[in-house]
Amino acid sequence: MKPKTLYAEPHRRFNPLTREWILVSPHRTQRPWSGQLETAQASPSLAYDPECYLCPGNQRAGGARNPDYGSTFVFINDFAALKPEVQPARLDESGRGLLLSESEAGICKVVCFSPRHDLTLARMTVAEIAAVVDLWANEFAAIASLPYINYVQIFENRGEIMGCSNPHPHGQIWANQTLPDEPRKEQESQQAYARQHGACLLCDYLQLETQATSRMVAENAHFAALVPFWAVWPFEILLISKAHAPNLVSLDPAMREGLADILKQITTRYDNLFDVPFPYSMGFHQAPTDDEAHPEWHLHAHFYPPLLRSATIRKFMVGYEMLASPQRDVTPEAAAAILKNLSATHYADRKPR
Ligand SMILES: [Zn+2]
Ligand SMILES: [Zn+2]
Ligand SMILES: [Zn+2]
Repeated sequence: MKPKTLYAEPHRRFNPLTREWILVSPHRTQRPWSGQLETAQASPSLAYDPECYLCPGNQRAGGARNPDYGSTFVFINDFAALKPEVQPARLDESGRGLLLSESEAGICKVVCFSPRHDLTLARMTVAEIAAVVDLWANEFAAIASLPYINYVQIFENRGEIMGCSNPHPHGQIWANQTLPDEPRKEQESQQAYARQHGACLLCDYLQLETQATSRMVAENAHFAALVPFWAVWPFEILLISKAHAPNLVSLDPAMREGLADILKQITTRYDNLFDVPFPYSMGFHQAPTDDEAHPEWHLHAHFYPPLLRSATIRKFMVGYEMLASPQRDVTPEAAAAILKNLSATHYADRKPR
């Protein structure tokens, strides 16, 4: 059967990174249900907000005061989910793994991308985003060198719909002792693929997508942004480095600028989709920092945006998704075509003020 024929009917697709299946139901976009109405979030208009705990010079809830920073700023989360000092312990209360627990050491940091309260990655210059990339790389290296850290997760939540109540441009870094489940699944898949094919999973995948072009959204000399074949979220994007690099630290200055450029391209297209600041969770997947060699790991980032057909209609992961398998209505190819055809100029720069 031809892919086109298969993709027009309900079918499932395999995610080789997690080795999980997703159900695709292209015919369901015709159904009458209109979805939940969310209030579209307007951009903040103030460059400085005296009430914001991330703005320069302001006091945070924990009592500390932010410096009068002029570019990026990083600090240890005042209400961290992980702490460096924990008593090492492992407890199996039933002796059969039914009530199993372990101590977990770690560190949580907050990264401010800009002193400007009213900006987002999409509204920052490539040079300003490159400063954020440098900070991410430097923090990754510094945190990775801590003896109790074996994995570093860099991520950003944007928009109230994703549980981020503060619009100030910022992200987080959580790092811990053990490899969390999502990167562990991807590590095992990348290792298995390398053993079986003597090649890198994402290098091979990127080559296929470069030839196919139907899921490619944006590209530059160093990075490619595409809607993956196995995307779950309507406008999900997988950002892949063209070089086989294990982490941000290994990127040279030109590659880092390439990353800054593609981040601006992705977030600008997202904002242009419904002419609103587009909500998402994004994060980098990088090789663990456990002092082992990880030739199988290929640096990439995932963007998971919740919106479906407008600024106010979101996709829910409920019912079948919670109990059986993720499901999507619009095909990844259709979503990629929509994103690709959007303007690369931000809507706020096109409209008269
Ligand atoms: Zn602020
Ligand atoms: Zn690779
Ligand atoms: Zn990943």
